[in-house]
Amino acid sequence: MALLEVAGLTKRFGGFTAVDGVSFSVAEGEILGLLGPNGSGKSTTFNCIAGMLRPTSGSVKLAGEEIAGLTADATCRRGIGRTFQIPRPFRGLSLLENAALAAHYGAGGHIGREEAWRRARDALRLAQLPEDPDATTQGLGAAGLKKLELARALATQPKLLLADESLGGLDAGEMRQAAQMLKRIRDERGITIVWVEHIMGVLLSVVDRVVVLDHGAVIFQGTPQDAQEDAKVAEVYLGPPEARAA
Ligand code: ADP
Ligand code: MG
Repeated sequence: MALLEVAGLTKRFGGFTAVDGVSFSVAEGEILGLLGPNGSGKSTTFNCIAGMLRPTSGSVKLAGEEIAGLTADATCRRGIGRTFQIPRPFRGLSLLENAALAAHYGAGGHIGREEAWRRARDALRLAQLPEDPDATTQGLGAAGLKKLELARALATQPKLLLADESLGGLDAGEMRQAAQMLKRIRDERGITIVWVEHIMGVLLSVVDRVVVLDHGAVIFQGTPQDAQEDAKVAEVYLGPPEARAA
């Protein structure tokens, strides 16, 4: 059975359809790349899956159970962790406190302090951030803030990790590191990952499968190799053939 099954997912904002009948599934242990140009509906799809937005119609099943329309805290307790495109950590708190707060949230508050600290330290270690209780968000660059997003999501102990635009603002070396980190999280912990990105490059070396969105609709599903050779994907990313530089 697929861990995540999205069928006919649609989200309208007034008269505008941001996500238009999107269907895809994700097998347990898989890393799926959800690609598409800016504005193609990737974050809106995530927000509908994770309960930040209520879908207009369609179905979202996690391990066979319908979760469409549940709130964000409910989907989190069922095992969906997510990172945000724009990191917004609690600046006044240490890294460890940020992660511990996420651990409490993910557990619905039903864990003790010790267990929250343990989950927080484990998440920081996985994200390669210091576990030192004095380490703060000060001085974290773009790459550090992305790692903290990841640590906060991991501290909720997700079965399914939704990673939104993990590469934004990173240089080429940091992008490779971020991609390897997601792969390691899957390989070592068996966490299933849906990775949203508008940049294809390094993502294709890590994902098992690719879904490409354009104007809210799926235009391609397949292997990373086939995505690179697909005419529709090329058109979305590079423009129509006649418009490309020779
Ligand atoms: P992506 O993440 O692929 O860049 P988004 O899912 O953020 O794209 O946005 C898809 C489309 O939906 C865009 O045209 C965006 O402007 C629009 N959109 C997103 N959120 C809202 C909202 N809350 N209200 C109105 N339009 C929105
Ligand atoms: Mg987005």
